[in-house]
Amino acid sequence: MIIRTPNDDCLLCQKNKATKKNSHIASKFLGKSILGKTGPRKGYILDSSKPHVKPRVFQDSPKESYILCPDCEKYLECLETYVAENFTKRLLNERFNKNFEYKMNEGGVEYAICKNLNNKLFRLFIISLFWRGSISNEEPFTSFNISEQDKLRVVLQESNSTDIQAIKLKKPHANLHEFQIVVMRSKNSHDPTGNFFYANGENDNLYQLILNEYKFFISLESNSALQKFQFLNNVGNTNFIIGLLPDQTWRKLRKGLIDLATKKSLDNAKKMGVKPWNL
Ligand SMILES: [Zn+2]
Repeated sequence: MIIRTPNDDCLLCQKNKATKKNSHIASKFLGKSILGKTGPRKGYILDSSKPHVKPRVFQDSPKESYILCPDCEKYLECLETYVAENFTKRLLNERFNKNFEYKMNEGGVEYAICKNLNNKLFRLFIISLFWRGSISNEEPFTSFNISEQDKLRVVLQESNSTDIQAIKLKKPHANLHEFQIVVMRSKNSHDPTGNFFYANGENDNLYQLILNEYKFFISLESNSALQKFQFLNNVGNTNFIIGLLPDQTWRKLRKGLIDLATKKSLDNAKKMGVKPWNL
């Protein structure tokens, strides 16, 4: 565990001092939805690197101090505000039907084409989620590391500004549109008991984050496993496509991940010679 102090440099701009306390790793607004809007605010963290520890209930989304300077924190906040207002609050919301085109492919997969979403801001936001997860030492990101994390940082840094209009106008880094991104959402996320964070980077060059009803994949390589998602794979500067998964598929997916985490926990427990917590 690395202990950071306010005398350390900001991990994003690498110029200013990282004096900002309590930076959200998984975005405040996604954290809110993870923890549910009503009732007891809690979710679960699955961390297979600590098989002997009972899955931790948490009441607030992970935060970390002294990773960013105030300006970089503000920059990431600009991206979050844009995405919260123009994407998460509007997708599958009838009042904003004109912003999305809802379709189904021949295989019965439902998806939404985001007609009024700024591709650059949305990409930068997703890149910032993965970058924050990669630099974080907090659960469940303790063992989540993107080997090419500096590639993400450089792309983020190129558009760094505390002014949303300036971010929009700045010429983006050439790699911004090359990264492959897949975003999926459960169509009706009525199950607040299933809230959890999950981060995985086990496969080569393919990383995934699950933040409550959202699932994000990123790959920095052009010939990656993300190609299997075909039309849901977003490359380039076109309207973003979001996969909409029926609840049943979502539940199956969640069960699959829990099973996988259990298996990894058991394997790790064996390696570590400890008695595993029974998931
Ligand atoms: Zn900074």
